[in-house]
Amino acid sequence: MFKLALNAGHGMNTPGKRCLKTIDNNETREWALNSRICNYIEKYLSEYEGYSLIRLDDTSGKTDIPLKTRTAKANNFGADFYLSIHHNAGINGRSGGGVIAIVYKTIKDGSTTALWQKALYERIISATGLKGNRSNPLQKQDLHEVRESKMPAVLLECGFMDSSTDTPVILTEAFAQKTARAIVEVLAEKGGLKKKDATAKTTETAAPTARKKTVDELAREVIRGLWGNGNERKTRLCNAGYSYREVQARVNQLLR
Ligand SMILES: [Zn+2]
Repeated sequence: MFKLALNAGHGMNTPGKRCLKTIDNNETREWALNSRICNYIEKYLSEYEGYSLIRLDDTSGKTDIPLKTRTAKANNFGADFYLSIHHNAGINGRSGGGVIAIVYKTIKDGSTTALWQKALYERIISATGLKGNRSNPLQKQDLHEVRESKMPAVLLECGFMDSSTDTPVILTEAFAQKTARAIVEVLAEKGGLKKKDATAKTTETAAPTARKKTVDELAREVIRGLWGNGNERKTRLCNAGYSYREVQARVNQLLR
């Protein structure tokens, strides 16, 4: 059983933690963005089995739970991995930024934690394209969450809330979904989670009456957006036991 401690940083009313008004008139709160990604992570994880999860933040956003309480909860839970979702600031309305993944300052390159950090960062960048312009997006810092948690811990800064290039992107639902999907893929791989569909499929294959969808049906579903895009589409089709290559070829044919 893979145990995940998942944290949406801050609370709705934590002072200062919000998008820059000149870019986002609503001054969207950081917790709202953090929590939205965490909620999608929970949703996408529910497609898998073999894990248990606790949220370390107040999921209503009302209380900014002290960091000590959050890490203590993760430690008591005996989590295998600690994932904290944040959004960054410090660009002051200029352009640039991007996703940053942070681990504790003493973490060695090539260690379990460093591999988590690298995998999460790379998968999110490939899914969202929010690479930004930071010289070192894989950072080591002395932050409470990554220091006090007893398990591998990564704090993700999912783009800047005061960047003219990042902020419009991170405000979108699509960005939250892609980021969460990328994270869940890494969690599933590293946590050894099984797709629930995969189990269903085994039963299905065993039953002679089971019917798989034809390539043509699948291609039409793909075009309707039911299988996502890019890597997500590939992974989902493969997990469902279909040939991505065949389906994509038919999609291309239909769209020609
Ligand atoms: Zn934060």
